[in-house]
Amino acid sequence: MLKLNSHPSGRHFLQIPGPTNVPDRILRAMDYPTIDHRGPEFQQLGRKILGQIGQIFQTVQPVVIYPASGTGAWEAALVNTLSPGDTVLMYETGHFASLWNKMAEKLGLKPEFIGDDWRSGVDADRVHARLLDDAGHQIKAVCVVHNETSTGVTSDIAAVRRAIDRAGHPALLLVDTISSLGSIDYRHDEWGVDVTVSGSQKGLMLPPGLSFNAVSQKAIAASRTARLPRAFWGWEEIIEANKNGFWPYTPATNLLYGLSEACDMLLEEGLQNVFARHKRHAEATRECVRAWGLEILCQNPDEYSDALTAVVMPRGADGERCNADALRKVILANFNMSLGQGLSKLSGWVFRIGHLGDFNDLTLMGTLAGVEMGMVLAGVPHLAGGVAAAMRSLQESALANKLD
Ligand code: PLP
Repeated sequence: MLKLNSHPSGRHFLQIPGPTNVPDRILRAMDYPTIDHRGPEFQQLGRKILGQIGQIFQTVQPVVIYPASGTGAWEAALVNTLSPGDTVLMYETGHFASLWNKMAEKLGLKPEFIGDDWRSGVDADRVHARLLDDAGHQIKAVCVVHNETSTGVTSDIAAVRRAIDRAGHPALLLVDTISSLGSIDYRHDEWGVDVTVSGSQKGLMLPPGLSFNAVSQKAIAASRTARLPRAFWGWEEIIEANKNGFWPYTPATNLLYGLSEACDMLLEEGLQNVFARHKRHAEATRECVRAWGLEILCQNPDEYSDALTAVVMPRGADGERCNADALRKVILANFNMSLGQGLSKLSGWVFRIGHLGDFNDLTLMGTLAGVEMGMVLAGVPHLAGGVAAAMRSLQESALANKLD
């Protein structure tokens, strides 16, 4: 048991689904004096980052970078494209989709929320049916979360695009990729997304504090007539200043040093390799959960998230469901590992294992061992052998791609 105020030896395992572990290479890249953000050295940095960041979003369109958490980029996406009273169609995939929906309401929009069970992704047929019904084109935007971090469910964004097109509807498509960018394949241009919202603290392996809007030409055109009030979030001035490698205000210079390094790391590894690495770790995690005899919250295997797994707590001998937060507390106290809590209506019911960002086979094995040992200490009923099942899964794929 860790004693409060004593130094826990070894590194903390930050296995929440973001913020993720920041690699030493990025920490070192940020550990430099802050420079003049209007000088030539900064201009070089700005140009480099703005030249690379689109590759991560798989776009050739502008990517606006804000010194803000992901919530800021949600707001930016809405206020740049919409007008007071506009109807937007949103889909209840979980906690984060619900927060975005509430934000739209607060901004004076009229969000229509397609309700669902927090165990599945966006049903593109339901989006299609609602848009077909909207003959007068009252709906101005469809807003969905690609990877719902509260549930570990990934939605098929290409299918949502097809649903909009099949309905012949002009609505913009706004997508939150805060917990998928740099972890799960995401294609802003190919999937015809108008605004992609993202954040720094997950797949990009950076500390919290930067967020993004990748924008299409259609979104830029919409921003010219959109009437929601905006000042700080306005794209126009930022895109203009970015043409020379600058920002219209003081940027988060040291986070941008980190972003430059993060882009180098992801592009050196190759985006497809990054996605394959996440998929492999996610599969091993699920093998482990199944071997424990526990339930994965996501119900449809096609929608399993490669960034995190939400695990449903089993019932104890008394027939009551074991509490996820009690288990997380035991794991933190004994093994110095943080796991994600169940959010809002999933509170106490699930815990979430983050397997995204700067992450390798041994990080995964340590993480799963911590969970298995924690379940023993906390008296959570489970079958033995989960960690061994994950190791088998990793070994099989490692043997197929062995390095010398
Ligand atoms: N959307 C998703 C999918 C998220 O996972 C999060 C945060 O975890 C947010 C939005 C909100 O981002 P932030 O907490 O950086 O403001």
